[in-house]
Amino acid sequence: QNPIIHATTEAVEAAVGNNQLTQPADEIVDFVEYQKTGGYELVKKCISGERDVESVLKTMEDSGLRGLGGAGFPSGRKWRIVRNEKGPRLMAVNIDEGEPGTFKDRVYLERDPHRFLEGMLIAAWAVDIQTIYIYLRDEYHGCRTMLEAELAKLKAHPPIPNMPEIHLRRGAGAYICGEESAMIESIEGKRGMPRLRPPYVAQVGLFGRPTLEHNFETLYWVREILEKGGEWFTSHGRNGRKGLRSYSVSGRVKNPGVKLAPAGVSIQELIDEFCGGMADGHKFYGYLPGGASGGILPATMNDIPLDFDTLQPYGCFIGSAAVIVLSDKDTAVQAARNMMDFFKHESCGQCTPCRVGTAKASDLIKKEKWDTGLLEELSQVMRDASICGLGQAAPNPVDCVVKYFPHELA
Ligand code: SF4
Repeated sequence: QNPIIHATTEAVEAAVGNNQLTQPADEIVDFVEYQKTGGYELVKKCISGERDVESVLKTMEDSGLRGLGGAGFPSGRKWRIVRNEKGPRLMAVNIDEGEPGTFKDRVYLERDPHRFLEGMLIAAWAVDIQTIYIYLRDEYHGCRTMLEAELAKLKAHPPIPNMPEIHLRRGAGAYICGEESAMIESIEGKRGMPRLRPPYVAQVGLFGRPTLEHNFETLYWVREILEKGGEWFTSHGRNGRKGLRSYSVSGRVKNPGVKLAPAGVSIQELIDEFCGGMADGHKFYGYLPGGASGGILPATMNDIPLDFDTLQPYGCFIGSAAVIVLSDKDTAVQAARNMMDFFKHESCGQCTPCRVGTAKASDLIKKEKWDTGLLEELSQVMRDASICGLGQAAPNPVDCVVKYFPHELA
């Protein structure tokens, strides 16, 4: 078995279980428990006028909270943009969580679903939205059952008058449906294929209406940020970065799992301080800072702050912060082969550079000797001419092997 798949699957299974809840159902903070600790008081204050829209937008902007699904668009600014569009407006919440190595949304959703739901209702109020669609990964069977039950309680006892309509939709297992416009197509009942932009979904989104699209975790932080203030969020951070990040750490570390850490923490700090070091018998060799699409870096580059924008100079990115740690028992070549097979399988097939490019690259890197010149040309075409991020980022692992692990190709 490919060690990268093996390491990742092992760690994720250990951290989040398989298709069921990872903790006893009676330990979930349910509707009643959530309200005992002040839950839904904040949204009530918003509706009653105790909090005004402008100050809420300002706090969100001050916090610097960015989209935690991977794109990193500033949340407060997004709320303002959609609010300025002509109504009716819609909201689409992305809990597709398909990036290999990412499991933070699931962990938070399973433990405190109403914290996310309250954040969602506050966003709907701030942007003046009456209809919300939640798109949940189909593989999260246990989460769906739990969320259906909690939504039923919320709808039976709405904490606010005229609560927006909330629809829960199931994905069907396609990685590409984590891309916002493909998700919207899927919610509309069509095949999940990314749209060309512009127009952006904030202007023409779900059912042709301006749409506020958010990742689950972004909404999960809304309550705490509004209660504690934007400065509370920015007071965290390390190595020159600000905020908090939930890193899904898997691979060859002693304690994998979701690690809430200061934004900008380095991989070495993450391994040593948050994961109990490397697993026994494993020596740190390299890491994937952003799941399958975010590239591969060697252990020698262990001091780069892990955050939005910090990895671009190295041809990598953090995305949804799925950090996969490789050891001396792995190779970057194996990882790249694995990732390219994944992209080939998950390409929606809509555009040629990605559909044909991923298949071609997958064949080329299975050869013992890599034609690096040809691969470089292919990567460039995929980057320049693919419609969406899947095709544009698919060459990242291959390019990183050529750049940072040439000894493996020698
Ligand atoms: Fe589909 Fe790939 Fe083109 Fe994206 S880049 S639209 S996934 S074929």
